Amino acid sequence: MRKSEPMRCKFYFDWTDKSSGFFYSIKEVILSKKTEYQQIDLVVLEEVGLALILDGKVQIAELDEFLYHEPLVHIPLITCGSPETVLILGGGDGCALREVLKYKSVKRCVLVDIDREVVEISKEYLNHINKGSFFDPRVEVFFEDGRKFIENSHEKFDVIIIDTVDPLEYGPSYLLFTKQFMSEVKNRLTERGVVAIQSNTIFPGGSKFLLAMYKTLEKVFPKVSFAWTYLKSFMLSWAFTFGCVSRKPEEVPNEEVEKVLSQIETCFLTPEVYRACISKPKFFVEDLKNFDQIITDEKPLFVY
Ligand code: SAM
Repeated sequence: MRKSEPMRCKFYFDWTDKSSGFFYSIKEVILSKKTEYQQIDLVVLEEVGLALILDGKVQIAELDEFLYHEPLVHIPLITCGSPETVLILGGGDGCALREVLKYKSVKRCVLVDIDREVVEISKEYLNHINKGSFFDPRVEVFFEDGRKFIENSHEKFDVIIIDTVDPLEYGPSYLLFTKQFMSEVKNRLTERGVVAIQSNTIFPGGSKFLLAMYKTLEKVFPKVSFAWTYLKSFMLSWAFTFGCVSRKPEEVPNEEVEKVLSQIETCFLTPEVYRACISKPKFFVEDLKNFDQIITDEKPLFVY
């Protein structure tokens, strides 16, 4: 993996794989610092605006972060049905939290991020984007490794959202995507529970992490599903996987999706877009048939 360096140049380069990538010109560097866990850069990029970059990867950009957070959050919350308790692992930018708090039924949302400094920076610089989500009285924040939190807690949640950084080889999150960890997560879900996982990119022949995540969830959960979106700020299509204890997103009646979406404010999801996001492209169905790798503690999978 490339070790990321503080932003010193006029351009932000991102490698999508070993031989290609993209760049944005940097309008302004707001801060650049190395924490115990990762390199943090907060910059303004031409075209996509204020962006939080961790270890060289854009996490959120002002222009289009909702295209990521709405499917990540609303699909599992709608599938669960009137969720009361939600756990977010990662999500230190506060945007997934913003979406969760739109549900009046949610009484408690716990966010566990390994890096206190990401949350502090988000509270100071990203409030206009996350709508001050960290200050909602329903929210409790812990600074801990998400895996340790799950292993040491006994509390059950209706929805668990894994919104950590990608599993980079030297990064802090790669043990949050394994079969062993998914089994622990299942034990922390209620009877109608859903886990939603950010699962990297999707494109023909190139979705190894997504395919492995889907197959790993199938080993643990009775029902598994998927959604996809596109973000200009990532210059990629992006996917999410869902492990479901009871019903899966496809099984939610249209009237129910319509009712929930009429009660919350969204910029991307409509009932039609909900269905479009969870529809599997033909190449993905074929790729799934021919793929059998599982992510385990002994054999984790890294991206980039
Ligand atoms: N939207 C995102 C993306 O593009 O990948 C994720 C955004 S969110 C800022 C990612 C957060 O995951 C970071 O704040 C990071 O500190 C946190 N994180 C990384 N490893 C973690 C771990 N093991 N446990 C909890 N949080 C973790």
